[in-house]
Amino acid sequence: MPNLSFVTPTRNSPWGTYLSQIDAVEPYLGKLARWVETLRRPKRALIVDIPIELDNGTIAHYEGFRVQHSLTRGPGKGGVRYHPDVTLEEVMALSAWMTIKNAAVNLPYGGAKGGIRLDPKQLSLKELEKVTRRYTSEIGIIIGPTQDIPAPDVNTNGQIMAWMMDTYSMNVGATATGVVTGKPIPLGGSLGRVAATGRGVFVVGREAMRRLNVPMEGARVAVQGFGNVGSVAAKMFAANGAKVVAVQDHTGTIHNDTGLDMQDLLDHVARVGGVAGFKGAEAIANEDFWDVKTDVLIPAALEGQITAERAKRLHTRIVLEGANGPTTPDGDAVLAERGIIVVPDVIANAGGVTVSYFEWVQDFSSFFWTEDEINVRLDKILIGAFKGIWETSEQHRIPLRTAAFTVACTRVLQAREERGLYP
Ligand code: NAD
Repeated sequence: MPNLSFVTPTRNSPWGTYLSQIDAVEPYLGKLARWVETLRRPKRALIVDIPIELDNGTIAHYEGFRVQHSLTRGPGKGGVRYHPDVTLEEVMALSAWMTIKNAAVNLPYGGAKGGIRLDPKQLSLKELEKVTRRYTSEIGIIIGPTQDIPAPDVNTNGQIMAWMMDTYSMNVGATATGVVTGKPIPLGGSLGRVAATGRGVFVVGREAMRRLNVPMEGARVAVQGFGNVGSVAAKMFAANGAKVVAVQDHTGTIHNDTGLDMQDLLDHVARVGGVAGFKGAEAIANEDFWDVKTDVLIPAALEGQITAERAKRLHTRIVLEGANGPTTPDGDAVLAERGIIVVPDVIANAGGVTVSYFEWVQDFSSFFWTEDEINVRLDKILIGAFKGIWETSEQHRIPLRTAAFTVACTRVLQAREERGLYP
């Protein structure tokens, strides 16, 4: 492990997970391996203090981050997460996975990510706006439409992107729609962006199922996380003939062997804020989620969920990673040993950043596409990228994750070599 004084990763922590993925890809990089060390450290990491006055008159301070892991292939690109467990180490790992993801689907971006260590559920809307605006001003010295373009991630959404866009625009004295993606449509957002990540999870999952001869009709699917990514993916699987038999979120776990009614569940979650208490299913213990018999298991919540212990219990054929970094290195090793195919995050959830790229292009050209055009282009990019990764995996007889890293790291390091080292 490189000796960075500002993080102390362990084997299964987020940055430790990323580093072990880089170790695995190194033998497949040929002469470009001489540059691999550049991937083991972020280019730039900014830590900011965010003081705000709360509604009750007290002053609260929050810790914020923006990490640009790589700007080799283009501007930084990656979401902003609001969560009480956010740390510099986590944001570093998420930024590095963005470098890999953007290169895996060949978008002209580097990789970046941001976060604020807070529980947004504890803040009023006004307080949330203040935190967002102050954070945007603080990281304003390194973001911009051609420098680094944030987007939504866990607990952030179109409203937060609107405040970010407005704050950045006020600071530079011009309306800069291209500074963030995932914006509401009236501010230069793109049709299809909200559903894009979940749609991509479905499209890539369907390709993997075809390759592995797993029929879609009647396929058993379980989803952890029923937010932006998990709910859209689940809905698309169900609409295409699969049965969503279990769903887990932060409120609990529900199970129905004959398949959950997706529209009823979506209505329930919109009404009460989580899956717990849904009438059309039985409640099961959270840990029992990992024992449910499935064909496709979709972790779509947070990282580090599929540990070695849980991997030993899974009854599934495919793990389709909607979340970023949901499988630990030890979990990965157990899944490989058991012959369970892992479709890695860097391709499975790349739909969101792909439509973010379309949004950015539309903002620059001030010419907007129809939702059909967006979806056709999205599917084409993801299907093409998955095919290349599948073939690399077969060629070297390596897991899909190492194949995706091989394709991506080769692109990043080729660009690195051609640019050369400054000065
Ligand atoms: P979200 O905030 O919309 O939803 C998160 C979901 O996870 C919620 O249903 C929540 O209840 C659930 N959850 C939280 N903690 C949990 C726990 N301990 N156990 C079980 N469930 C829990 O977030 P999202 O945008 O859907 O993101 C989910 C994952 O997908 C994250 O890893 C994120 O980085 C990744 N991702 C998101 C996007 C995007 O466009 N939103 C793109 C790529 C990857």
